[in-house]
Amino acid sequence: MLNLTNIELTINGKKILHDLNLEVRKGEIHSILGANGTGKSTLSSVIMGLNGYQVKGGQILLDGEDITNLPIHERAKRGITLGWQEPARFEGLTVGEYLKISKKFSGDGFLSPRECLLKVGLAPELYISRAVDGTLSGGERKRIELASVLAMKPKLAILDEPDSGIDSLSIDHIVDVIKTFSRTGSAVLLITHHEEVATIADRASSLCDGTVVKTGEPAAVAKFFRNHCEECPHVNQPAEEVIHNG
Ligand code: ADP
Ligand code: MG
Repeated sequence: MLNLTNIELTINGKKILHDLNLEVRKGEIHSILGANGTGKSTLSSVIMGLNGYQVKGGQILLDGEDITNLPIHERAKRGITLGWQEPARFEGLTVGEYLKISKKFSGDGFLSPRECLLKVGLAPELYISRAVDGTLSGGERKRIELASVLAMKPKLAILDEPDSGIDSLSIDHIVDVIKTFSRTGSAVLLITHHEEVATIADRASSLCDGTVVKTGEPAAVAKFFRNHCEECPHVNQPAEEVIHNG
């Protein structure tokens, strides 16, 4: 469904992504493992088409259509959605209004704002009238954002650390929400540090120094990541060396 080929991205003269190849299949959960600074959030921005993340080389195909040079709203129209690592605040909007806007994209018959809140473990009666602002904790905003991505019923949900700032007791809940995405037909690109979250995926890829060094079965990729990448000594080294050393 989504195919990235030989992606190159430079920001202010610094090469951030290079020779990056990645395929996300229709409806699959595909997790991305990578140490801090390896380019995971940058990859999310490139797929979403955020300003300043136009690639220098390579191609992005969505269902065979070349979207490499499409702006963010055109990609959103085609069903790509991004959940931010640091969720945005929407001062002035209530949680209910925010979720209603998101639901507009999914069409009739899909989950209501209430149902989306329940899915992410927030009691609707306590949250639906709250403002989406700094009075919500980081974890609450993260859940509300996840609820909004769910409400959109995207073709591809890019979730950048949906489990960050969420206590370990709630991890099972987040896993459940991620599975809900795939049950309702969305593919998920799942960026996470938690191995127990990463391994719920159908497939996984490991990112190192701005490129994908391994793709495959999640447990195997997680093992590779643990053995070779967790304390990544390869940052700033060419990818070929990483592969040979691995
Ligand atoms: P991760 O999400 O894997 O922790 P990031 O994608 O945030 O990593 O960052 C990858 C690298 O790109 C880092 O070295 C970071 O400093 C750099 N980077 C990301 N965004 C920018 C930017 N806008 N300007 C300059 N450097 C950036
Ligand atoms: Mg990041």
